[in-house]
Amino acid sequence: MVAKDALAGLAGKLVCWDLDRTLGIFRPLGRDRQGPRPPGPEVGLRPHVLEVIEALDEAGAIQVVTTASTPAHAEDALARAGVRQRFRRIYTGDELIPTYGLPTKDYVGVASDFGLFGPAVGARMIVIGDTLTLDLPVNGPVFVWERGGANVSARLTLWILTTLAAAGAGDLLAGYEALNRAQGTPTALLGGELEAPASTFILKLWRQSGVPVVSLLSELEPLPLEPLRRREGST
Ligand SMILES: [Mg+2]
Repeated sequence: MVAKDALAGLAGKLVCWDLDRTLGIFRPLGRDRQGPRPPGPEVGLRPHVLEVIEALDEAGAIQVVTTASTPAHAEDALARAGVRQRFRRIYTGDELIPTYGLPTKDYVGVASDFGLFGPAVGARMIVIGDTLTLDLPVNGPVFVWERGGANVSARLTLWILTTLAAAGAGDLLAGYEALNRAQGTPTALLGGELEAPASTFILKLWRQSGVPVVSLLSELEPLPLEPLRRREGST
């Protein structure tokens, strides 16, 4: 795991997690979106995601879920994962806003809900998701594009967050720009290692429609999902 002093750089940061294929793969609710689940492939959590969510919480980061799914699905998935209480708010498909005619996540609204405006948005907010379209923020924060979905260790996400915070002396966007500049090109590469064997990785720093994006460039071996932990409140 990441050292405590690196985690300290994430205190007070607003971390926006996409749900499906980012925190895990959750079997959808029934067709009426409220009823029992149909039989289907088993679901699971992204490897090490519970450990990372708990580490961020304990470091003083503020975590929210920004999903396009229904409130019932989101609440159910997070409760089954046993992490509902770690999230300050759950933004769902009920709160999408139209952008150029397409429903999109309202990250401007999320930022303002937590008192972030102007440069503070890029400095203190970060977005994590698996979809380059629906999850892409437009109002300043760095986007961590988890295009590998839920089969890549969440420790990679934590490494990205702590590395950006450290490079920017606590300012995530400044960290992104410093790392980009250090590599000398508008599209920079950044690499590291995770604890698991054969886990050397290369990240790409680039811009999509002007949005600063960090994405995994190298192929990491897909990891199996972890089982859902427990339902909160159950014994
Ligand atoms: Mg997703």
